[in-house]
Amino acid sequence: MFITRIAPSPTGDFHLGTARTAYFNWLAARASGGRFLLRIDDTDLARNNEASVGVIHDCMTWLGLDHDATFRQSDRLDRYRDVAADLVTRGRAVVADNGAILMKDGQSTPWTDRISGLQAVGQAHDALARNQVLIKADGMPVYHFASVVDDIDMGVNLVIRGIDHLTNTFRHSAIYAALDAPLPEFAHLGLIMLDGRKMSKRDGAASLLGYRDAGIDPDAMLNFLLRMGWGPAKDDKSMAVIGRDRALGLFLDGGRMKNSPAAFDAAKLASYDRKYKAARRDLAAPAP
Ligand code: GLU
Repeated sequence: MFITRIAPSPTGDFHLGTARTAYFNWLAARASGGRFLLRIDDTDLARNNEASVGVIHDCMTWLGLDHDATFRQSDRLDRYRDVAADLVTRGRAVVADNGAILMKDGQSTPWTDRISGLQAVGQAHDALARNQVLIKADGMPVYHFASVVDDIDMGVNLVIRGIDHLTNTFRHSAIYAALDAPLPEFAHLGLIMLDGRKMSKRDGAASLLGYRDAGIDPDAMLNFLLRMGWGPAKDDKSMAVIGRDRALGLFLDGGRMKNSPAAFDAAKLASYDRKYKAARRDLAAPAP
């Protein structure tokens, strides 16, 4: 039973990559009879805005990805400070002259990615983890710390996210170790590429709501997202369309998530859109 979450930061558009991460985490939770949580990572006071929180909810509603609970990190600041203070008491963190709280001799541990396999700790990872800041001088938690505290408190046992977070996971493994908590499973998905480079939040094509506003069928979008990072064990014609119900049956055991880059292909999305719209028309047509 997987307890998963999607943890967007409300700092602008909801990105296609975030939508893909949301769908995969939703699939893992729903396919296993687990729980899917929405966490708003809103500790970056300078960059947050309330309108973006609304965009996150609109996106989840449009895609039909229901969640079992919502958390906001800004409601949990005392919790992060308490956990950090406890680490100081136990000699696993120190208070710096400026009031920030830093990890003391944190140790990354090796971890196994569901997609990429065993990840050994390198020197660079160790350097990142060892004295990492947990709570900044202004009292706000660093993303890495807040995220791990939340994942432990909420019982998250599978984290599916983009491969751009892979290095972060070494920081996180040190925080889990300092908190004597077991690691969840991790799966890091390949980047979404546009014209041979990483799709950036600034690319117009990256904004999810742009597709809703253009009239794209949300189930076509889900099918498109599924195939940018997951493939069925046997990929033949019968897999040309994989709607949500079928994806639920296949996601965990009938295929694999991928760490290879996934090319964004607008023609593919348009083709799914035509197929899903045609299927809806057929369903709506009166019986002959
Ligand atoms: N707020 C982080 C992001 O949007 C969450 C990453 C994670 O899944 O841990 O990238």
